[in-house]
Amino acid sequence: MTDCLFCKIIAGDIPADKIYEDENVFAFRDINPVAPLHALIIPKKHIAMINDLKPQDAEVVGQLFLAAKEIAKQEGYDETGYRTVMNCGEAAGQTVFHIHLHLLAGRDLSWPPG
Ligand code: 5GP
Ligand code: ZN
Repeated sequence: MTDCLFCKIIAGDIPADKIYEDENVFAFRDINPVAPLHALIIPKKHIAMINDLKPQDAEVVGQLFLAAKEIAKQEGYDETGYRTVMNCGEAAGQTVFHIHLHLLAGRDLSWPPG
């Protein structure tokens, strides 16, 4: 999708600090991190929001979590713990409409989230 920020990052048209890539998944550091590790893990396929997921997207959604596990391990947070969050819609705080799994680690994370 040409006017999508995250599609442009995948294409290399906008620079990003990449931390993981495989056939279907791309991950990079958030530009405005809220934790020492704050990665955004996205499918290479453009999907705007959870509401748009189709049964055939189930595999790639699973792959986002497998990537999260790998990145957490790579960054040394697999033992201490980490949080994954995917916002859907404006009331939940979604600002970029290409689904992304936030991976947060490196500080105490309160619950419930704000
Ligand atoms: P959302 O609020 O949609 O769940 O998360 C969007 C995230 O994308 C935010 O945490 C924001 O800081 C991050 N973000 C927005 N624009 C850019 C960008 O150009 N580069 C990177 N690396 N992150 C971005
Ligand atoms: Zn996109």
